Amino acid sequence: MTDAATLPENPLLAPTGIPSFASFRPEHVVPGVEAMLEDLGTTLDRIEADAAPTWEGVVVPIERMGDRLSFVWGQIGHLMSVQNTPELRKAHEEVQPKVIELSMRLGQSRVLHDRLEELQQGDVWSDLDEGQQRAVECLLRDARLSGVALDGEAKERFNQLQMELAEISTRFNNNILDSTKAFQLDLTEKAEVDGLPASLLALAAQAAEDENASAEEGPWRITMEMPSFRPFMQHSRRRDLREKVFKAFFARASEGDFDNSEIIRELLRKKRETAKILGYQTWAEVSLASKMAPNVEAVDKLMEELRVVSRPAAIKDLEDLAAFARAAGAPEADELEQWDMLFWAERVREDRFDFTNEDLRPYFPLPKVLEGLFSLSNRLFGIQVRAAQGEVETWHSDVAYHVIQNEAGERIASFFLDPYSRPADKRPGAWMNDCLGRSKWAAAEGEAVRLPVAYLICNFTPPIEGEPALLTFEEVTTLFHEFGHGLQHMLTQIDEGLVSGIENVDWDAVELASQFMENWCYHEPTLMGMTAHKTTGEPLPKELFEKILAARTFREGSGMLRQLHFGMIDLELYHRYDPDGEETPEDVKRRIEERTFVSKPYEGDRFLCAFGHIFGGGYSAGYYSYKWAEVLSADAFAAFEEAGLDNEAEVAKIGRHYANTILGLGGSRPPMEVFKAFRGREPSTEALLRHSGLV
Ligand code: ZN
Repeated sequence: MTDAATLPENPLLAPTGIPSFASFRPEHVVPGVEAMLEDLGTTLDRIEADAAPTWEGVVVPIERMGDRLSFVWGQIGHLMSVQNTPELRKAHEEVQPKVIELSMRLGQSRVLHDRLEELQQGDVWSDLDEGQQRAVECLLRDARLSGVALDGEAKERFNQLQMELAEISTRFNNNILDSTKAFQLDLTEKAEVDGLPASLLALAAQAAEDENASAEEGPWRITMEMPSFRPFMQHSRRRDLREKVFKAFFARASEGDFDNSEIIRELLRKKRETAKILGYQTWAEVSLASKMAPNVEAVDKLMEELRVVSRPAAIKDLEDLAAFARAAGAPEADELEQWDMLFWAERVREDRFDFTNEDLRPYFPLPKVLEGLFSLSNRLFGIQVRAAQGEVETWHSDVAYHVIQNEAGERIASFFLDPYSRPADKRPGAWMNDCLGRSKWAAAEGEAVRLPVAYLICNFTPPIEGEPALLTFEEVTTLFHEFGHGLQHMLTQIDEGLVSGIENVDWDAVELASQFMENWCYHEPTLMGMTAHKTTGEPLPKELFEKILAARTFREGSGMLRQLHFGMIDLELYHRYDPDGEETPEDVKRRIEERTFVSKPYEGDRFLCAFGHIFGGGYSAGYYSYKWAEVLSADAFAAFEEAGLDNEAEVAKIGRHYANTILGLGGSRPPMEVFKAFRGREPSTEALLRHSGLV
């Protein structure tokens, strides 16, 4: 390893500004982070010793410490996901525990909590504006939810429960992983792979652990990883094998060494105890304390409203499917089992919409799509996006840098776009992350405010020599989605860093801005305007557009009912269910199934044992958020539909209003107020149901 002293100046120690990606080396991590931690530790000691209960006495120092931490640690985290190397990983691992320790100290400081409380109760409180007050309220709430106000035995028990819960969740997830790996179906006869698409055969041959395996001749191995399981269920013509794979999948983590059944009850018990210590009745109440949904009743009401509409549509979907199977001469048509559903749904889809991703790809060259996206943003919000390549350092030559100007021509933000997949060192998926947030307290000398900078990361197929990169329609919507998150981060009008951009926008409201943008991909002129065939330059043929539109609502009733099924189980278990009572979680699931299943459930279904979202991840009593945010984004888009999407003047007017409320206000007000400021009323499910083809 190089001696830190011989390295170029450590970019992690720069006071602020856009990170110097070109001069960064993994060797900078340990000395850089350690210096930052030492500095922050001393600052925290000093603030705890003499903080005054005023905005500048306590809140500004908290923002500055958090900002410093996320400036340094955020760059490293970003590079971990886009330029991962063994050296970087090792350095990251070395300092991570110390970073967690400091951020916990910061988030759980009793002294800071008390100063904030004094500020809230003191005379100066009324001098603070709405956004400042919300910043303090959010800080206090988060500290309270992490147990800061507890004393003595309650505190000890709380901390013990936190540790046990972390350990149980890890065990839960490991059991899913191990039992997923434990199953494989090895196939050697061609008759056994009847119907499987070439891509799955290639994957299955690769998984076969036989160096002579080939996609054409086998052997093939089917596993329970999604990319193998799902296409197998969709395409295998061997009903007996589908049944076998399906049953194995839904038995994951439910027996033997990897059994999660008891872990679920233990986890529910401990979460409820945690809730009681914090002064709530149930874990669902704790979860909702920091969300837009006001209470469990409101979530129940929403889910029920969507359920009664999606259920008849799901029944219709099922009838369609059975009719199709009957017409195809399938003997099982009158007694379809769960392992027949994906298979026949896929046959119906192929029959109705005979287009593939590959048919669409040539019409969506990335430069044309970006042009369309930026021109839409200009029409809606009056902003100008322009390339500013070379203005700053990037981490890879594919990364583009753009700046955004407002209607007055002033620069207000900038972003990096890292479009292509690099399997060797970049994490899969797509995401938006903040590089720098808008804040007056982080402004450089002589400037009034620090401007926001975003990272937009995608994993599109890289261009082939001599051609532009070509996107699938799904990739186009992904780009719009992430850019929507980016707009909320970048178009913020708030100068207080703790509540600007996406800071303190509640978890169940944060997908509003992103899904809102996706809606425009189904608007004919907008979509047509960003298509140009790679060789002929022709726009997308009208009939392909019609198919995209029709495919959007295909089996949407079934899809929605399935999401509601998960959301209802989640809320029931974390709110009404008594983990010490007679009923088992499996009983609860069966009880919910009566309202959310339109086909015969599979008796042996032990899906709960592998429901990692709510037992092993961050979605406990929060699964409903998916639907909640969809209601908001559809309803926001409906404001434009009501005015007429082709009425340019009205669209521009509502677009500016959207920019001034949803995008501009960020976390400075509770999300329900922000929504009402835009829409003039509370959200309604009408638009989502209409877009889903359910009314
Ligand atoms: Zn998102």
